[in-house]
Amino acid sequence: MHSAAHPLLDDVARHLDILLRTNEVPDYPGAMNGIQVEHDGPVTRCAVAVDASLQTIDAAIADGANLLVVHHGLFWGGTQPLRGRVFERVRRLLAHDVAVYASHLPLDLHPTVGNNALLARELALTPNAGFARFQSITIGVTGEADVATVSLAERCDDLARREGGHLVSVGVTPNRRTRRWAICTGSGASSDTLREASETGIDTLIVGEGPHHTAVEAVELGIAVLYTGHYATETFGVRALGQEIEHVFGVPWSFITAPTGL
Ligand SMILES: [Zn+2]
Repeated sequence: MHSAAHPLLDDVARHLDILLRTNEVPDYPGAMNGIQVEHDGPVTRCAVAVDASLQTIDAAIADGANLLVVHHGLFWGGTQPLRGRVFERVRRLLAHDVAVYASHLPLDLHPTVGNNALLARELALTPNAGFARFQSITIGVTGEADVATVSLAERCDDLARREGGHLVSVGVTPNRRTRRWAICTGSGASSDTLREASETGIDTLIVGEGPHHTAVEAVELGIAVLYTGHYATETFGVRALGQEIEHVFGVPWSFITAPTGL
């Protein structure tokens, strides 16, 4: 469906909120899912990016976009005065009439446009259940396979390098096979996810990143962990939202590349 007129911001946001169940999915306070900055006019062009930053805001403005859709929004730092870089973000958005829409966990866990489901598809893995419990939801996915862990690691490294990063792994030995895997994108490695993996017989955990101690614990538990990059594992969801907005509203979109290498 393509509408002749450009949609209003509220129309686009309402569609995304329903699709993503923004009001039902719990999240961290800094996520502030939904419209974070509004504007008056219709949405004429959309830019999507993993992070809301000065770099992505400038790139969105340069692309002529007046809606920036992100996974990590403007408010992760908590309540802060509008000074310095925080002021500069807001100033540039308002000066160029660019709205911001953010979706964190609702976008991580969505079965068709979510980071976790899409990363599984990219790695040729088929999920059959949820993984990584958070309050009332599961953020990640899990499933069965019969694949050399080395070749799964190669797929992850290829994907990471396409997005400016590289794979870091533990527990990947030459003849090892992955039979039960789990994915949790972003900062998905923690003592909690490792415990959950261990308790449910998962032998390979694919994440974005995690603290050092998770690598130590994983070796003790006999779990291979593929740290594929926080950024690289979370580029899929916002791209899918760009496609969704174009498909439903006929608004052109572009992906803003801003890799951190992490
Ligand atoms: Zn993230």
